Amino acid sequence: SIVYWMRMGDLRISDNRALAMASAQAEREGIPLIVLFVLSPQDYIAHDRSARRIDFTLRSLAQIKTELAVLHIPLRIVTHTPRRTLPSCVVELTTGLGCTRLYANIEYEVDELRRDIKICEIAKRDGLKPTFVHNKCIVEPGIIFTKEHKTYTVYSPYQRNWLTVLNANIPYYLEDCPRPHANLDSIHTSNEFAPLFMTPVPQAIPGFELDDADMRRMEEVWPAGENVAHEILQRFLHSKSRQSQLGAVNPLTPGAEESTKANRLINYDRDRDRADRDTTSRLSVYLSAGVLSVRACVRATMDLLKTDKVDGGRTSGVGRWVQELAWRDFYTCILAGFPRVSMGRPFLEKFSAVVWEDHQVPVGAARSGVDQDAEALKRWKEGQTGVPIVDAAMRCLNEMGWVHNRMRMITAMFLTKDLMIDWRVGERYFMEQLIDGDLASNNGGWQWSASTGVDPCPYFRIFNPYTQSLKADPTGEFIRHWVPELRKLKGPDLHNPPASVADKLGYARAVVRHDEARHRALRRFKNPGEA
Ligand code: FAD
Repeated sequence: SIVYWMRMGDLRISDNRALAMASAQAEREGIPLIVLFVLSPQDYIAHDRSARRIDFTLRSLAQIKTELAVLHIPLRIVTHTPRRTLPSCVVELTTGLGCTRLYANIEYEVDELRRDIKICEIAKRDGLKPTFVHNKCIVEPGIIFTKEHKTYTVYSPYQRNWLTVLNANIPYYLEDCPRPHANLDSIHTSNEFAPLFMTPVPQAIPGFELDDADMRRMEEVWPAGENVAHEILQRFLHSKSRQSQLGAVNPLTPGAEESTKANRLINYDRDRDRADRDTTSRLSVYLSAGVLSVRACVRATMDLLKTDKVDGGRTSGVGRWVQELAWRDFYTCILAGFPRVSMGRPFLEKFSAVVWEDHQVPVGAARSGVDQDAEALKRWKEGQTGVPIVDAAMRCLNEMGWVHNRMRMITAMFLTKDLMIDWRVGERYFMEQLIDGDLASNNGGWQWSASTGVDPCPYFRIFNPYTQSLKADPTGEFIRHWVPELRKLKGPDLHNPPASVADKLGYARAVVRHDEARHRALRRFKNPGEA
């Protein structure tokens, strides 16, 4: 048999390179294809995976198992600990199925790359031929370099080059990989494989259980499945924006009103930074889990425009959206090119001495709990900072497992500059909450906000959360929805309530004064090492 090893960022059957290659090989050799998935709880702990992401993975696997069964392809799910022995476990499982070839898509995180190198070493000894292929990005790491043959660390020239490379080789970069062929249906009755069809997908993994309410909410807001993801994509491309994206509605729920003339993608250039409207695709959940192929997103924009070239320009909604997809590629290239960023180190080493108010989280320490946090951090996590836009965003994150990009930037900037708390603390908390948690994008976003990353926000450009609030939530609907204490306020008071008003409404007073905090941050970044 041939084994395709599906991983957490690969959760789809269509347009999946390693799966398509494995299937073609099985077809050529006239032997069965088997899909393997290894649940590794120790990896999930080590990488701060959220219970929501694990739950979404299991829900996706349940659908995949059913779809594969129609093609007579078994999905074997195994739970393995300790993570140290995962490479030998995978090789044994594979060879135990009488398999000589193993296919998988590459994961670029440093632990995962080391694990796969180990697999290659063990496999060689055991006569197994592993093949790892690129699938996560549109243009994979290792293709686009500066004139000096270095990894780009500035986005704009990277993106220009990315677009040129992509447009010069569309058939390869936007290939639509075929769905797998069906196995012979006799596989169902063979003694060897029949049990693989019977084993159910686990409902939960100990230590990563969601409470009932959260589980129901996640199912409603983020339904699993490739069809769902494609429908969300089509809605984003073709339908008008809903008046509001607030509340626990899933991205497919028809909006109460579709009254705005705006088409979300066409107006993405103008509207994308607004959190009080349904302005972005909300596809990150499906892209980070691989339920939706990023190639399919770009192909869809070409179909929409009826062109044979990709629009990645700054002046159109489509082009801007494609640029966001390029950010995803960019941060993955950074992760692959500079493994230190996934080891808790700043990209800009000069800022490693910046003095933070809160301790760094030691690697491997217990998952963060509110009780061990300093007061300011606790208030940030709970959405009780007394800064309405920050609180609205944090409460949205805590409840939905997702929050708008601009809100991620505002909250990350507030933690690292206003509260002067180490970006790694925030990065970790986001991973623990997000259903779309992705090391490359999360780390990239946090290091951008903390000014320690590639092409970061310069340390002296500190967001004023109150002016950001007026721009990102001009109607105030986002704040009113997530901070009900302030529901009756209008105008500037909603964005920055005076202390007397906050007291009257039972809302927290601001945890810091922004102007004072700004000076502290400027001082500390200017002189790393000095408090
Ligand atoms: P759209 O605006 O519709 O964009 C389309 C797609 O492009 C997104 O789904 C995403 O895959 C990609 N994209 C958009 N913006 C970015 C970006 N800045 N960086 C990388 N890719 C991008 N994204 C994640 O997928 N996982 C994370 O863990 C994550 N953590 C973040 C943490 C911080 C502090 C910040 C500032 C950003 C983070 N992002 C992360 C990026 C971005 O916020 C989300 O991808 C975006 O909010 C998803 O919403 P959407 O699908 O509606 O995006």
